[in-house]
Amino acid sequence: MSSERRLAAMGDDMKVPFVDLKAQYAEIGDDVMKAVGEVFASTRFIGGEVVDAFESEFAQYCDAAHAVGVGNGTDALELALQACGVGAGDEVVTQANSFIATAAAIVRVGATPVFVDIDAASYTIDPERVEAAITPRTKAVIPVHLYGQPADMDPILEIAQRRGLVVIEDAAQAHGARYGGRRIGSFGHAACFSFYPGKNLGAYGDGGAVTSNDPDLIERIRKLRDHGRTSKYEHAMVGTNSRLDAVQAAILRIKLRRLDAWSAQRAQAAAWYAELLAGSAVSTPSVRPGSTHMFHLYVVEIDDRERVAQALDAQGVATGIHYPIPLHRQPALAAYADPAADLGRTERSAPRILSLPMYPEITREMVTRVAGALREAVDGAQRPAAE
Ligand SMILES: *Cc1c(COP(=O)(O)O)cnc(C)c1O
Repeated sequence: MSSERRLAAMGDDMKVPFVDLKAQYAEIGDDVMKAVGEVFASTRFIGGEVVDAFESEFAQYCDAAHAVGVGNGTDALELALQACGVGAGDEVVTQANSFIATAAAIVRVGATPVFVDIDAASYTIDPERVEAAITPRTKAVIPVHLYGQPADMDPILEIAQRRGLVVIEDAAQAHGARYGGRRIGSFGHAACFSFYPGKNLGAYGDGGAVTSNDPDLIERIRKLRDHGRTSKYEHAMVGTNSRLDAVQAAILRIKLRRLDAWSAQRAQAAAWYAELLAGSAVSTPSVRPGSTHMFHLYVVEIDDRERVAQALDAQGVATGIHYPIPLHRQPALAAYADPAADLGRTERSAPRILSLPMYPEITREMVTRVAGALREAVDGAQRPAAE
């Protein structure tokens, strides 16, 4: 077989996964095993100096004064709400296009989620809609830095300050993103991160953190995450068990050092997609001026999504949808769906969005394959149906 034909055959067989954590493990495996071995030998599994070190390194990375590690990103949101005094009778304004954890945390502290529409270009919460949704019961707003792009924080913070609202950022998808040059992590009262394995900074299990410039707020979360402890046997408040363990912290320390390089690789892949999809009927993501986008997800909009996704699958290209069912349509949250709310942009994008393969190690060859298959499928959709 000629080398040209061999290449073509290889290209035909090439599967493109949605994410590939194995590629990353090949890069860091030796360091990870060494660090994990040290934790095992120390037998200091919960808390201790490895967790302390990660917390201070992560705070510094996020341009925040403090960070506290917790069990996962959902708990980070719940504990931040609790520590800010959000509870029964309070309303919390957020967006309906998000992972369910954003709203579940609100419900779990006894408050009511109020869903408002997004800005159609960035998929992040529309500040004007936040202001319009404020009632005497509104206590907080949770902007979501969705897909890796910061929400438009300046107008949100201005409204929150003027109306006396707590701002808790859902930063689970946007580790390292910048807004006006500063990293997310201390714009609001607290920012909540997830270290779920598939996130841009992922542990080898569950993990999460809250960052803030407010030392008292962080101290309250430190207590809440550890049974409200003030000392070994004394508990000042009823808290929970939601601690970051030392094995995860050791792995996260290794990965944090590489995060900026990985984010640059994601940005490169996004640039390839934009180049290779230019001029097609595929609408590619936009980045708000003054912000950086971490491309946790590379989300495009297309017509006829189900057929296109199937066509890609048939070509060995895996895709996802984030999220096909907006939160106000989730059965679990039916009680919080307001029929009078105008969520038109959320509703119109939900059946059109498609998340393409995106991870630091994706190659130009793979991106080319995805873009080619996508163009072919979308062009097919535009052709008049055969008689
Ligand atoms: C992943 C995620 C969470 C929840 O984080 P977990 O660590 O999985 O609990 C919350 N909000 C958003 C937007 C997320 O993507």
